[in-house]
Amino acid sequence: MKNLSDINVIKSVMGRHGVTFNKGLGQNFLIDPNVCPDMADNADLDENTCAVEIGPGVGVLTAELAKRAGKVLSFELDDRLLPVLDETLAEFDNVEIINQDILKADLPKIFEEKCKDMDIAVCANLPYYITSPIVMLFLENKLPVKSITVMVQKEAADRLCAEVGSRDGGAVTVAVSYYAHSEELFFVPRESFLPPPKVNSAVIKLTLRDKPPVDVPDEEFFFKVVKAAFSQRRKTAENSISAGLGVPKAQVAEALEKAGLEKTVRAEKLTMENFADITRILAEI
Ligand code: SAM
Repeated sequence: MKNLSDINVIKSVMGRHGVTFNKGLGQNFLIDPNVCPDMADNADLDENTCAVEIGPGVGVLTAELAKRAGKVLSFELDDRLLPVLDETLAEFDNVEIINQDILKADLPKIFEEKCKDMDIAVCANLPYYITSPIVMLFLENKLPVKSITVMVQKEAADRLCAEVGSRDGGAVTVAVSYYAHSEELFFVPRESFLPPPKVNSAVIKLTLRDKPPVDVPDEEFFFKVVKAAFSQRRKTAENSISAGLGVPKAQVAEALEKAGLEKTVRAEKLTMENFADITRILAEI
């Protein structure tokens, strides 16, 4: 098998098929030979697991997934890469490339058809321009996924894996913690890619919870409150929740007080339990 993290191999296979890098699709391909085996080793793969990849590029991570998983479903939007992948992954009979935009694919139907009765684990070097939508797609939609091990921009990794109630936290942090345990696995410098992007990266792992850490009567309203609270980070939670939800300030103040919180508290200081309490009390008011 060819070394797909070798710059000369990447350039030659792309050249043979007339493919150039498309920056708009986030095409920065891994050239550090240690990163993909490390990612795949951390991705909970075995014979009964279907690995789901977003964006195989020339197939460097796909090959490592194929060695460890029963099956690999890999979504690639750029059809110019299909003949490249036919060539680079020819030795694997457990890989299926799906030429679709991951954000538009009918995932429940595809999983039902192609990996029925298998566990599903997501593992990918994500196209960074759609990191949050992809992560939220797998977290929110009650898909039968056990874990998500992905490479993202370092700043996104810090935010996604921050503790709720800490300075790095945001609405997406609360959403991640609601659905999953998160950990930042390792740092990957920008020089590990061809072409090198402007930013460094990190690999994170999100392991989905069996049930959320807090009980909320209405998940949709809970996330509305969270989004509203973080919508104006410099303002107090009272002001931003009131403005974001269109609810009178006095009601929000009452909810904060009943939840045992200071009027001047900011969203970044609120814990998951605080958000759940505020949601419950506001729903009652
Ligand atoms: N896995 C390869 C690697 O690590 O070298 C390539 C990763 S590259 C950062 C991102 C890949 O995602 C590219 O192959 C790109 O064409 C693909 N991609 C971009 N947007 C996509 C989308 N909406 N759906 C599916 N694939 C997409």
